[in-house]
Amino acid sequence: MSTLTNGSGPVPADAFVHPSKPHLEGDDGISAFENYKRLHEQSIKNPQEFWGSLARDLLTWSRDFDIVRRGSLERGDLSWFLGGELNACYNCVDRHAFATPDKVALIYEADEPEHGRVLTYDDLLREVCQLSYVLKDMGVKKGDTVAIYMPMVPEAIIALLACVRIGAVHSVIFAGFSSDSLRDRINDAKCKVVLTSNESKRGGKTHAIKHIVDKALVECPVVTGVLVFKRTESEVQWIAGRDHWWQDVVKKWPAYIAPERMNAEDPLFLLYTSGSTGKPKGVLHSTGGYLVGAAATGKYVFDIHDGDSFFCGGDIGWITGHTYVVYAPLLLGVSTVIFEGSPMYPNPSRYWDIIDKHDVTHFYVAPTALRLLKKSGDQHVTGERAHLRVLGSVGEPIAPEVWKWYFEVVGKGQAQIVDAHRAAQTYWQTETGSHVIAPLAGATPTKPGAASFPFFGIEPAILDAATGEEIDGANVEGVLAFKQAWPSMARTVWGAHDRYMDTYLRPFKGYYYTGDGASRDKDGFYWIGGRMDDIINVSGHRISTAEIEAALIEDFTVAEAAVVAVQDEITGQASVAFLTLKDHRAVTPEIRDELILQVRRTIGPFAAPRRIYVVDDLPKTRSGKIMRRVLRKILAGEQDQLGDTSTLSDPTVVERIIAAVQAGP
Ligand code: ATP
Ligand code: MG
Repeated sequence: MSTLTNGSGPVPADAFVHPSKPHLEGDDGISAFENYKRLHEQSIKNPQEFWGSLARDLLTWSRDFDIVRRGSLERGDLSWFLGGELNACYNCVDRHAFATPDKVALIYEADEPEHGRVLTYDDLLREVCQLSYVLKDMGVKKGDTVAIYMPMVPEAIIALLACVRIGAVHSVIFAGFSSDSLRDRINDAKCKVVLTSNESKRGGKTHAIKHIVDKALVECPVVTGVLVFKRTESEVQWIAGRDHWWQDVVKKWPAYIAPERMNAEDPLFLLYTSGSTGKPKGVLHSTGGYLVGAAATGKYVFDIHDGDSFFCGGDIGWITGHTYVVYAPLLLGVSTVIFEGSPMYPNPSRYWDIIDKHDVTHFYVAPTALRLLKKSGDQHVTGERAHLRVLGSVGEPIAPEVWKWYFEVVGKGQAQIVDAHRAAQTYWQTETGSHVIAPLAGATPTKPGAASFPFFGIEPAILDAATGEEIDGANVEGVLAFKQAWPSMARTVWGAHDRYMDTYLRPFKGYYYTGDGASRDKDGFYWIGGRMDDIINVSGHRISTAEIEAALIEDFTVAEAAVVAVQDEITGQASVAFLTLKDHRAVTPEIRDELILQVRRTIGPFAAPRRIYVVDDLPKTRSGKIMRRVLRKILAGEQDQLGDTSTLSDPTVVERIIAAVQAGP
């Protein structure tokens, strides 16, 4: 019998509730982790053979590819699976609808817990085909871009699939964006058609999103048609000839249309980054490479098996929603939960109720949601969650304190989650398409807060930021870069290939530059330290803001923390902390002293915040990430130069933070 070991001694592998053993566990007594190491080495030494066989194994090609990889990072001209032809929708829907038509594809959990519906693969194929006809009828052709500005309803996923079925390129814009942000993205991508709904519902509130589309379209000359899904009964303003009711038109079309044959390198979708560091980039992904990355990480990082029920809490407006709500689970033919609501509605038990109700096996969410739920108290985390095997987190560094809560409270009683290392703290970017550094569930040992090991085909390098030299060995830190190309890497920034080169491939010749800092410890684990802009240098000590924030969050009074650097005459830089406290508690001098002491104790006196501001909220992107650059600018007195803040979720926090800074710590 094979064993997986953890800190408390060997745990028999068959002690876990698992439909079958992890994909990587061999029959030959080789542990899953040994297998990972062997395969990873192969993927680096012989990428052509490795990816060629995985691509044939995971996807159905209507024409086999002639060559696996071409081009180089230096030239920025990479292409994969050339000569190959396939259709993304066929791979996500048709092949499962033919083999297992009654299997559940989408589990729609509506904002109101009592509503919602379930679609089988058979249903999904029918609905996708009907919508494909509608898009064609609206003039959408192969290669055209289509904007999707929709709430998390099954029709949004159907929209993505219908686009790729007919060879159109989808550009999903998060439905919380303002009309200006929507307008800019539609115009940048020259979308012809916009898919939306009359209203959206979230957290018990309705939002008039068609109205936002109408405002945006005043300045979008290219758009000729708008398809409106009727989510509520409300009437909306209507432009005859341009606007069409979704439910009315789909009925006119038959239940099958053949998928378009696409070349592996044909664009699949366009997606704008979160805008944490500046103007959002329209990242372009191609068909074959992206799908291989999505399916491979779904299978090996999340260890998805037939019959699983996957719940990713991310919105389809972000890459997490693309890859792990839609593409990975559907490519692997399992059920995926489409959650329309908010984790706090009708109460903070909502996520856990959904997990229990649908026998969810995998739960994947951003730290921002976990911080919020942790803040609202453990009493909401009830239920058994007996089916849950894998917990994952993505998007930002997760403080070990929050991570511990996730596993101990959310995964409580589920010894297999912690002991079998089925825990994924996943590191990746819009540009990487799928996970690049992450533990493989059921195979990799984990450490709380570590991103662990590179995925197949990823050869990480830690570089010296100043010299660009690679730093070898253990216990080193620097800039995170990748030495080899991988199939799901972005091919370009839409209409700005030079910006693509400047941002990712030119900073360090021959490497893909992530923009993030990282370290490698004595056991070879990678730790993500946050963005390079967020590294503080105090008297020559380099420290990531994430580490100081993690120390602050350990204090039970602190809900969220953001740390930034300010210039200091003596130490070069010094840290300043912005905090929100639990229960909107007022800060006292005692709390302040305790927090400073906490950082001195856990990291060292040099890291201790020079000033602490307690605020009611932090500036966050709409994907929930803290925008530290806004805080830096405010502290520097440059509040008139905040840069692109169109992706702030609540622009009014800026005023309140400026006032807090002016009032003094
Ligand atoms: P922009 O590129 O427009 O500034 P963004 O980088 O926030 O926005 P995304 O592509 O959504 O847009 O996010 C990727 C970034 O998120 C990574 O570069 C990294 O900084 C952060 N990130 C993702 N996963 C993790 C993780 N597990 N740990 C730490 N940071 C992470
Ligand atoms: Mg980025």
